[in-house]
Amino acid sequence: MKKVIIIGAGPAGHTAGIYAARANLKPLLYEGWMAGGVAPGGQLTTTGSVENFPGFPDGIGGSELMMMMRAQSINSGVEILTETIESVDLSKRPFIVRTADAEQQAEILIIATGAIAKRMRVPHEDDFWQKGISACAVCDGALPVFRNQPLIVIGGGDTAMEEAMHLSKFGSMVSIVHRRDELRASKAMQQRVLENPKIEVLWNTVLVDVKGDKALTHVILKDVKTGALRDHEAKGLFYAIGHNPNTEFLGGQIKTDGEGYIITQAGSTVTSVAGVFAAGDVQDKKFRQAITSAGSGCMAALEAEKYMIINPL
Ligand code: FAD
Ligand code: NDP
Repeated sequence: MKKVIIIGAGPAGHTAGIYAARANLKPLLYEGWMAGGVAPGGQLTTTGSVENFPGFPDGIGGSELMMMMRAQSINSGVEILTETIESVDLSKRPFIVRTADAEQQAEILIIATGAIAKRMRVPHEDDFWQKGISACAVCDGALPVFRNQPLIVIGGGDTAMEEAMHLSKFGSMVSIVHRRDELRASKAMQQRVLENPKIEVLWNTVLVDVKGDKALTHVILKDVKTGALRDHEAKGLFYAIGHNPNTEFLGGQIKTDGEGYIITQAGSTVTSVAGVFAAGDVQDKKFRQAITSAGSGCMAALEAEKYMIINPL
């Protein structure tokens, strides 16, 4: 039986691992194999340069940063298995985690399985992914390639509003493409967007394709009422159509919100199951940043250590 098992190998999982190992808890970390559709290392392995993670004044490649976190985990004493957890039994301590062909017991579980940004999967999307198309305006919006250029945000929720506001500081014009004639976002966020002279909303409109040469230059939009297609110049296209947290393998044994995000107590990583902690994007639909994920990974390990002292098995 392991003292601590960590599921997930993004910034949250590795930070939890480093702290747990340094507390002599000998953690076992499952990094998954293309779990949720991303490589071990998580969402940052799908991006080029990360320019807002402290300590790297010239930025650092997303995959490179995650390889460094992985190396630091191993150097700290974390045992890493490249396997995906398919199910868990949280009915009593020790908890059980199961891969396709094995199971393991743990006194404490830290869940750090992240979330995946939804993509529209229009025909030529893969050709321009990270060459103009992104699912994170806060991460990529300030890149020189988007400065004073026409930009598009897809979606009508709070994320789309926030991303449009953020991008309006950089682009020449930001067009929100929304499939209905009414926004889902909160009224306060809507108002800020609708009053911003650098943002327009293209109502009843959907994205059907993207075009470019080496990078994105245009999107093809469809008016859902008339069916008419048109070209629209865009050097940047930002998806803000929601995320899917990786929580299906939990089989409903931990309390989640309506969208499947694990509910943690305010200011902590404590979940509805005593002895199970959650860190990173799997429990955070507000900030969704590498640094906030790493911070909550640290919190999870510290809370796990304290819990084990008070509740020994
Ligand atoms: P993730 O990074 O999502 O990692 C979760 C890990 O868990 C993955 O390795 C996954 O495979 C694994 N996993 C899932 N299910 C299982 C399972 N059942 N068994 C085992 N393993 C499992 N943030 C920034 O701060 N700066 C940026 O520049 C930036 N750029 C981004 C660019 C893109 C394109 C995207 C999509 C995101 C970007 N972000 C950026 C956001 C950042 O990547 C996330 O906030 C952060 O990675 C979340 O970390 P995490 O540890 O919670 O989860
Ligand atoms: P939401 O699910 O709230 O909104 C997603 C938006 O994308 C909707 O407008 C939806 O359209 C649209 N959409 C979904 N799928 C497609 C598709 N295939 N094609 C075109 N459009 C699509 O997600 P958010 O990420 O915006 O927000 C998630 C949660 O996080 C919410 O509870 C939100 O309030 C919260 N949040 C809060 C913030 C804050 O308080 N500052 C900031 C960011 C998020 P439709 O409306 O037609 O369904």
